[in-house]
Amino acid sequence: MTLKSLPSDMHTDTLAVRMAVDKSQYGENSEALYLTSCFTQPDAQTSARRFSGEEDGYTYSRFSNPTVTSMEKRLAALEEMEACIGTGSGMSAILLLCMSTLKAGDHVVCSRSVFGSTLKLIGTELKRFGVESTFVSQTDLVQWRAAIQPNTKLLFAETPTNPLTEVCDIQALADIAHNAGAKLAVDNCFCSPALQKPVRFGADFVIHSGTKYLDGQGRVIAGALCCTEQMARDAFIPFMKSGGLTLSPFNAWVVLKGMETLGIRMEAQSARAMEMARFLESHPMVQRVFYPALPSHPQHTLAMHQQAATGVGLGGAVVSFEVKASSPEQARQRAFHVLDATQLMSIATNLGDVKTIITQPASTSHGRLTEEQRQAAGISQNLIRLAVGLEHINDLKTDLLRGLDTLK
Ligand SMILES: *Cc1c(COP(=O)(O)O)cnc(C)c1O
Repeated sequence: MTLKSLPSDMHTDTLAVRMAVDKSQYGENSEALYLTSCFTQPDAQTSARRFSGEEDGYTYSRFSNPTVTSMEKRLAALEEMEACIGTGSGMSAILLLCMSTLKAGDHVVCSRSVFGSTLKLIGTELKRFGVESTFVSQTDLVQWRAAIQPNTKLLFAETPTNPLTEVCDIQALADIAHNAGAKLAVDNCFCSPALQKPVRFGADFVIHSGTKYLDGQGRVIAGALCCTEQMARDAFIPFMKSGGLTLSPFNAWVVLKGMETLGIRMEAQSARAMEMARFLESHPMVQRVFYPALPSHPQHTLAMHQQAATGVGLGGAVVSFEVKASSPEQARQRAFHVLDATQLMSIATNLGDVKTIITQPASTSHGRLTEEQRQAAGISQNLIRLAVGLEHINDLKTDLLRGLDTLK
């Protein structure tokens, strides 16, 4: 049976729906889920060639699997990068990056506002293997430049950050990295490629937690690392084979199907988040709102420039805000009151779901920090994070007003 291959020069929206490995002989319209741990070989010679890498072909699913390949091809296309490697989680994508590009004696410069587990991995775990790191301000380029050492091999950033939505200048960081002979990795979890493509601003590696917006419906844990063909072949695939950070075909399939609706979800969720941000800014009990698409955001112009893959700058779906409070005790009590008064939103610590999630970062994602560290990071007790989903905006506003209008 002859199968149509994709015409060249397709738009992102089309690739998000169509990019995959070839259909099987049955011509399935929805991509097949290959739940198999190994693949039979036509003969011993072919088997030998495939195992030695002389010939392409599937052998064992720790190395590669057609469903995982479909997910990788689709995400690489969305990120406008040559290659993508699916991993079991977002954290294992970061581990793959570090294990494959760093060695004892190397140095990493990392934003101090990145995801908590990333801070721990780079700052604590890698240190045991002789990799040093310096943590710097998300937004102060002077600090990034000053942190560079002769042995600096990697700069790591995430933009916007969780939960304060601080935005870093990807192009400026890429220039600093490349001038120092280092590489820049960007965790693109919050925007997803629907809004932001870090490679356009010079990033060398793009990290994803597929768990978030790529899946989009909070079903699976998954991750990915996007890079050049050469880096995939020479550094990452060899480590994947022995390191076994493999993405399960089932989870890859869920993320693959999630990407089909990524663009419209990100636009719709960004629109709701924008309306929510404006609404919160005008509420008398709200002290401050953190959202990149608001003109009051300190890096608003930069964010709208970087997050404009759809043609217009969009803020993404995460909005944080502080309720007014006059003491730390009242701050915590008031934040808890707003969470507890909701009847619709999920009290949980995740994002990227079509179900709106409400969190108090100080007692959850940032709960292991000391009060001093939290204050240095700007995570106050009265800070609340919303990961806005797809419910009707009026129902979401009403749900927040239950708490905001009854604060004591
Ligand atoms: C969730 C998250 C991760 C880690 O992803 P997992 O899939 O949970 O391992 C990394 N970076 C960011 C920004 C995240 O939000």
